[in-house]
Amino acid sequence: MNFWFSLNSNKILIIINTMLDFKNTEIAFSAKSQGELRNAYLLFNTIKHPGLVKFASAASTLALNIHFPVAWAIKPTLYKQFVGGETLDDCTKTIDHLMKFNVRSTLDFSAEGEQTPEGIKATFDETMRSIDFAKGNDKLAYAVFKPSTVITDELLAKASEKREELTIEEVKEFREYKERFMAFCQRAYDNDVRLIVDAEDYCFQDAIDELTDEAMRKFNKKRAIVFATLQMYRHDRMPYLKRILSDATEKGYIAGVKFVRGAYMEAERARAAAMGYPDPICKNKQVTDDNYNAAVQFTIENIEHLEMFMGTHNEESNYKLAKLMDEKGLSHDDKRIFFAQLLGMSDNISFNLAHDGYNVTKYVPYAKVREVLPYLIRRAEENTSVAGQTLRELTMLKAELDRRNKANK
Ligand SMILES: Cc1cc2nc3c(=O)[nH]c(=O)nc-3n(C[C@H](O)[C@H](O)[C@H](O)COP(=O)(O)OP(=O)(O)OC[C@H]3O[C@@H](n4cnc5c(N)ncnc54)[C@H](O)[C@@H]3O)c2cc1C
Repeated sequence: MNFWFSLNSNKILIIINTMLDFKNTEIAFSAKSQGELRNAYLLFNTIKHPGLVKFASAASTLALNIHFPVAWAIKPTLYKQFVGGETLDDCTKTIDHLMKFNVRSTLDFSAEGEQTPEGIKATFDETMRSIDFAKGNDKLAYAVFKPSTVITDELLAKASEKREELTIEEVKEFREYKERFMAFCQRAYDNDVRLIVDAEDYCFQDAIDELTDEAMRKFNKKRAIVFATLQMYRHDRMPYLKRILSDATEKGYIAGVKFVRGAYMEAERARAAAMGYPDPICKNKQVTDDNYNAAVQFTIENIEHLEMFMGTHNEESNYKLAKLMDEKGLSHDDKRIFFAQLLGMSDNISFNLAHDGYNVTKYVPYAKVREVLPYLIRRAEENTSVAGQTLRELTMLKAELDRRNKANK
């Protein structure tokens, strides 16, 4: 916090400028007990080793395949750090705790279940319950779903890529998928709940975008209910954002846009090379960063027609959005703009933003241990591959542990 004095009409004004500072560990970890801090430190220290994560990932996959119990090892460690609970009700404790610090939750049913008709039906029902759970609940910022969880991957890719005709049976199945997708949006609209459509693999995305665009036109007339996710590591997303804006202005609706960098870079590059189509990903990290920040800036410049969810653990992008909001004269709690991080990661960003009055939400995954295991493995792998981020988490946790130890002496 900075203080300075200024002489104005013979009166001395004291100007207090609360500078956003992601290095403030006291605020960053205010929600964590000493024991929780120590456990988090141990966990990040363990998952920073790529060899260990590779081994754990292979062992967990094997354990899943042979139905070996894994909960005893996962539940007190990875699960505790990154997951809200097994059911919606289980998450209440996390939701209430986060809200004490002005951080809202976005409950994300993260079971990566079997793609059988029964599995799809179960995911559909649970997603509907999560949209109902968010109704009228101010502690929940959004509801969310992954389109690929209510259709088979094979059919979604086939319909999206339009390389072959669908069979009569597939046309019927795809129609049922569209009905499930639109049922989520209709329920969100009826409940007045904002609903995010997560972005997935490139080979699925055209079909997802098409439906999301249609849903935005239908349900976003008064406010943004349906949100499209744009993975800005794709070099074609800026033109897509511009298309969304011109469609929204032309047809008179408020577009909802969620920005992420994108989670499947290696797989996308490998698939493009194997299938012989151009790599859809920006040529390097800097280009992705520039693309991401340009999209956020473009959205702020056109905020009259858009609402934004910015999902990132990148400090610079978070500072940039805060600065853009200031420059545009928007209040920190402007209801059209949310900053978002994943539960258990980058608390230094979430809690400092929330402390400064910005709208912040944490994605809170929930599901049974076995079902959420692929998600947890991805988190562990991500924290291994994004080495800078893990180091940042560790440095911050250590600084806060030291600060508390000193304060208690
Ligand atoms: C709340 C939230 C919701 C999310 N939802 C989704 C979702 O719906 N779909 C999805 O795909 N992901 C989603 N993600 C994950 C996200 O896409 C990123 O993988 C993750 O957040 C890391 O990016 P970053 O901006 O936080 O950090 P950074 O560390 O700054 O960026 C890392 C990212 O930069 C990009 N990158 C890295 N190296 C290169 C390179 N050589 N060339 C080009 N690009 C590169 C990759 O996208 C990589 O993930 C979500 C993340 C959050 C926080």
